[in-house]
Amino acid sequence: MSLDRLNLERFARIDLCHAPTPLEFMPRLTEHLGGPRLWVKRDDCTGTALGGNKARKLEFLLGEALRQGANHVVTLGALQSNHVRQTAGAAARLGLACTVILEHRHPDPDADYLRNGNMLLYLLFGANMVFRPGGTNMLAALHEVGAELSAQGQRPYLIPTGGSNPVGTLGYVKAAQELLQQAKDKNFVLDQIVVASGSAGTQAGLVVGLAAEASTAVVQGFAVSQVEHLQHQRVAALAAATASFIGGHPSELPPQAVRVNADYLGKGYSIPSEAMVDAVQLVARLEGLLLDPVYTGKAMAGLIDWARTGRFRRDENVVFIHTGGQAGLFGFCDTLSQPRPAITTNKAA
Ligand SMILES: *Cc1c(COP(=O)(O)O)cnc(C)c1O
Repeated sequence: MSLDRLNLERFARIDLCHAPTPLEFMPRLTEHLGGPRLWVKRDDCTGTALGGNKARKLEFLLGEALRQGANHVVTLGALQSNHVRQTAGAAARLGLACTVILEHRHPDPDADYLRNGNMLLYLLFGANMVFRPGGTNMLAALHEVGAELSAQGQRPYLIPTGGSNPVGTLGYVKAAQELLQQAKDKNFVLDQIVVASGSAGTQAGLVVGLAAEASTAVVQGFAVSQVEHLQHQRVAALAAATASFIGGHPSELPPQAVRVNADYLGKGYSIPSEAMVDAVQLVARLEGLLLDPVYTGKAMAGLIDWARTGRFRRDENVVFIHTGGQAGLFGFCDTLSQPRPAITTNKAA
């Protein structure tokens, strides 16, 4: 068996996504930066619970949960976790109980961070919330809570950080196929894919999916939660595990398939940076497109800087995966509403 005989139909999956998500050209941002040709894959529009990349992973994860007869989903994340929001929303939609374990990771949270944005939405979806201090071993906490629920006669299904195990990662193996088909339909050569890289399932799934289709497109991850070599290991390990899981062999993934840059991480996970605020503002004003402060804002800061410093060819086609997260904007109101210098757009100049 090898990756090129990939058949995802054999895995349990439920429909949660509005797919295919749109693939849109960004003419004003492209012009402003003077190239490359920039496209956005609108995975912020996957539908369930305001959308985002986790819905693709949850199609496979919750497919497996239902097949196992689970009646209670348990997952974890930071207080403003998009993954937790989408899991809580999907669980509500399927009539499953949901417990979420929330880690206080932000060093200096304000009232919005604690109550608005995703935090507000967990409440609306009726999730049970359990809190843990920053630095807790969250995977251990997940298993503890799971064991408690089992002892109470529940049938829990545990979802790790970001839904990033080989089952969840299948969502982005499938997304890679979808994206390649769209580029073909729109008649362009897909040179690079840029994506925020956190728990790594999105990047790893794309890497495996492209390898399975023998695509030459490059996936560039911008790390948003940890330093470069650790993030590189995380992506590579998950890509290898996913390749094995679907019956391929990790040797089918060339070592250079995993590319990670952490220059735009700033001071750490979810801590705002100036470059992030600039990127969120620029893309909002030029394309009417909302990014998020924790993931896509930092990845876009990387893309913009690389375009400005000539690290892409001007004529290449670069697809930015919009992984969602806009609910988080409302958890960072103060940071994002600070006055910023006006942007000189080409039209205004
Ligand atoms: C979770 C998340 C990511 C990161 O995806 P991973 O698969 O965890 O690497 C990127 N963007 C947004 C908005 C997210 O919520």
